[in-house]
Amino acid sequence: MNKLFFYAFLFVFSSSVFGQTCNTDNSWNQPVEPFKITANIYYVGANDVTSYLITTAKGHILLDSGFAETVPLIKANIAKLGFELTDVKAIINSHAHCDHAGGLAELKRLTKSRLYASEADAKLLARGGKDDPNFGNELLFEPVTADSTFVDGWKLKLGGVSLTANVTPGHTKGCTTWTTAVKEGKRKLNVVFVCSTSVPGYKLVGNEKYPEIASDYENTFRRMRAMKVDLFLASHATAYGMSEKAEKLKAGAKTNPFIDPAGYKAYIDATESSFRKTLEMQRAK
Ligand SMILES: [Zn+2]
Repeated sequence: MNKLFFYAFLFVFSSSVFGQTCNTDNSWNQPVEPFKITANIYYVGANDVTSYLITTAKGHILLDSGFAETVPLIKANIAKLGFELTDVKAIINSHAHCDHAGGLAELKRLTKSRLYASEADAKLLARGGKDDPNFGNELLFEPVTADSTFVDGWKLKLGGVSLTANVTPGHTKGCTTWTTAVKEGKRKLNVVFVCSTSVPGYKLVGNEKYPEIASDYENTFRRMRAMKVDLFLASHATAYGMSEKAEKLKAGAKTNPFIDPAGYKAYIDATESSFRKTLEMQRAK
């Protein structure tokens, strides 16, 4: 069997085994140069679906896998930066959608590391995206079991690094916004990895699978507005202008362009206004 056919066969075979129907958007999955964002935080994702490596002396933390097809890019990016994939000791996730969790199962196999997930999203991860309150069985990925689950406020501690899990539900029931603090020179920076507060055609009124969805969004917006943010990162690169900021950083910007509290606020404003519009329209029906 020639190589191409073999891979085509493997692809069809694995797709049917896992019932994968995640329509991988290739325009979100283009390779980009990995780079250091600040201190011990590195960008290792694709042009739009993100993945972050947080290094520590006792092994590394990896946040998000992108699509199943993003894993080879992440692997190459980690190697390019001079780190070892097998030094990843903890895998965490923003939320259980196939563009952020599609490669978690493969990354777990490759790194043999532990996967930590919020209680609510651990269930959706284990179902491989099946029975999603908004997408039904449309966006499936390889199911993956969390080794340990957490609730809001839990801290992942490794090698002197501490990441706080802020469960900010709405986009998914266990959507997790991770926060940490780093030192850049003498300056202490509060870093946020926003899960997502977007409302992609969701049913906010009378959602039988997620009746409290609208009030969850309300609480999440309130909570996220109260967060003290210096350095703004998110699960989609376009949500925080990653490529423009990376260019500025590369060109030797004096202040780290990823320090962007105004951009963070603008993101919350934009997604909250789209949430309110959707809610009003659905209530008016
Ligand atoms: Zn999502």
